[in-house]
Amino acid sequence: MKERPSFPARWGGNTSPAKPKSAPGTNLPQGLGMDSSAVRQRMVQKLAGQGLSDPRVMAAMGKVERHRFVDSALVNQAYEDTSLPIGLGQTISKPGVVSRMVELLCAGVTGKLGRVLEIGTGCGYQAAVLSEVASEVYTIERLRGLHEKARENLRFLRLAHVHLLLGDGMLGYPQGAPYAAIISAAGGEAIPTAWTDQLAVGGRLVAPVAQPTDRGVGSAAAQALVVIDKTSQGLRHTVLEAVHFVPLKSGLA
Ligand code: SAH
Repeated sequence: MKERPSFPARWGGNTSPAKPKSAPGTNLPQGLGMDSSAVRQRMVQKLAGQGLSDPRVMAAMGKVERHRFVDSALVNQAYEDTSLPIGLGQTISKPGVVSRMVELLCAGVTGKLGRVLEIGTGCGYQAAVLSEVASEVYTIERLRGLHEKARENLRFLRLAHVHLLLGDGMLGYPQGAPYAAIISAAGGEAIPTAWTDQLAVGGRLVAPVAQPTDRGVGSAAAQALVVIDKTSQGLRHTVLEAVHFVPLKSGLA
């Protein structure tokens, strides 16, 4: 008797491989591959429904495979609009927040952004998104474990224009300055002056910043997304919607 082909079988005919059982956002197939592209397009459609409209950012969000940046146990949630743990008490931001911030950085710029500084590399996902819209990306992480994880996660993309740095991002990275854009994935009490110093005139910074609350001493400070535009006349601050980011901390760990 002929031996059965081992599974998965490759049939001679033009039968397409069995469709993985997958309800949107739940049962993503293990190998993902082409199917993950369709799942990302659905995610981009949802983001568009929330107001995302910059075609460069939509293309970047549709291209970068978020599932490659999260633990295998969380792959099924990779394309939901939710933040996820990435280890060492840190989180990968929600796709809605990543796309919102990157869209803010790109607004008013035609073509690609120039050099961008990201504070808080985390797992490297946002750096990969930025690499699609900028000519060069410098990204700093203060936790060695995550810096190394990001290096591992980004290796397969071979992005020569993304520079992963281990350091205290509160100091910025003067060697790469001036930056066309600066983006922080961690929120502090105020914007460090190093960041605005290293921003180019005409450049834009987007970061979460603690906002004074009227609930008295001891109440958790709320964060808001703050945009700073550096003009020849000085800095222009705009406070946008409330957000929730991990804290900006000084020093290495
Ligand atoms: N952009 C990341 C999000 C990571 S969460 C991603 O796509 O995964 C924010 C990160 O900021 C955390 O990893 C935290 O360790 C880091 N962080 C906080 N303060 C920092 C600082 N002063 N310098 C560099 N990284 C910092």
